[in-house]
Amino acid sequence: MTEQTNPFESFQEQVDDAAASVDAKDGVITRLKNPERVLETNLTFERDDGSLETVRAYRSQFNGDRGPYKGGIRYHPGVTRDEVKALSGWMAYKCAVVDVPYGGGKGGIAIDPSDYSESELERLTRSFAKELRPIIGEDRDIPAPDVNTGQREMNWIKDTYETLENTTAPGVITGKAIDSGGSEGRVEATGRSVALAARETFDWLDRDLAGASVAVQGYGNAGSVAAALIDELGGNVVAVSDSSGGIHAPEGLDPRAVKEHKTETGAVSGYGDAASITNEELLTMDVDLLVPAALENAINGDLAADVAADVIVEAANGPLTPRADDVLVENGVHVVPDIFANAGGVTVSYFEWVQNRQRFYWTESRVNEELERIITEAFDGIIDAYEGRDVRDLRTAAYVVAIGRIVDAYGQAGSWP
Ligand code: NAD
Repeated sequence: MTEQTNPFESFQEQVDDAAASVDAKDGVITRLKNPERVLETNLTFERDDGSLETVRAYRSQFNGDRGPYKGGIRYHPGVTRDEVKALSGWMAYKCAVVDVPYGGGKGGIAIDPSDYSESELERLTRSFAKELRPIIGEDRDIPAPDVNTGQREMNWIKDTYETLENTTAPGVITGKAIDSGGSEGRVEATGRSVALAARETFDWLDRDLAGASVAVQGYGNAGSVAAALIDELGGNVVAVSDSSGGIHAPEGLDPRAVKEHKTETGAVSGYGDAASITNEELLTMDVDLLVPAALENAINGDLAADVAADVIVEAANGPLTPRADDVLVENGVHVVPDIFANAGGVTVSYFEWVQNRQRFYWTESRVNEELERIITEAFDGIIDAYEGRDVRDLRTAAYVVAIGRIVDAYGQAGSWP
């Protein structure tokens, strides 16, 4: 039988695993496995040569029990309805596990953005923002960046929304540039929480992150910042990769210099004297810490059997298939789940939104201090659930914490006659 790699089915399996340890009615769990609604739309926009092109786009609003829907917008050829549904579900649990008052959402356009000019991407993004306008808003649904989107796209969406609504509403979207109402520390936030998650986990295991060998798969926003901050905490980043392949230097790489090399050349490969390796070699390397920071399903059950790392901290969303999880639990590998480890992004998005609503902006050190407090408290909550509830792994423990919070909010809202 081939392994299930539909991310939405993987997501539902994860919820089912945890639901067994939560006191909630079946009907409530079914609710927590499915989005409240999904927008599927076809966007027509003009290419630079005057021709028209139509592409598919989605926005999934998963759960609004704890606050407005919240989650990124991804531009990638692999975007599908099921992928967006899964990602929106992970967002709902992520917000709950770090106790940020949002539900989950996610959106995407099924394109390879490198096929388009900047002006084409602007027209396409504004066209998506026009479709999203009736369903987003500061108190309704707040998008953010994800794979292949960043400040530029967020600024376009904010401008389109504000123009059509004839208002100023910077909190309609997060991940904006600082001068457009963005927050200090937002760009680094996801990598920062990954590094903090690694630090807390190594402390909990009575191990030293200083001197630990580290491999990072995916060298975009999440992976490159995580590598640099883990390096600052004393970790020794020996291997990194991107979609063009990987590099390995047993004595350690300089993560910031590798990032500069990637910015200049478009790839990590070719950096200094580092040896070339494949992504599979990176994922099965004998290191203390492995950080998957690319896309979903990077490690399936077969590959998991060859994983030699002691700890995996998931920077990407859904990098392990459920079968990979089973194999890794069996082999005693500690997996620190995505819904906690990469929650720094949504947490600082929350700070950005709070600052937008207050029209009062924080210093970077305040942002980083508040983030550290939230991440360390969330880690303690997961460990309490792990040690107190007899669940099989940290992922299940994180879901138990998150499901409990959403179920409570839903229950407290009461029912309509
Ligand atoms: P990004 O586009 O900045 O980087 C993605 C990186 O992965 C690129 O370096 C790309 O080359 C690499 N990659 C793609 N396919 C690969 C493959 N098969 N093997 C190795 N590398 C590959 O995206 P990002 O924002 O860093 O997001 C990465 C992951 O982190 C995604 O799962 C995303 O959902 C998750 N995430 C990001 C944020 C955020 O704030 N950026 C927040 C939470 C979660």
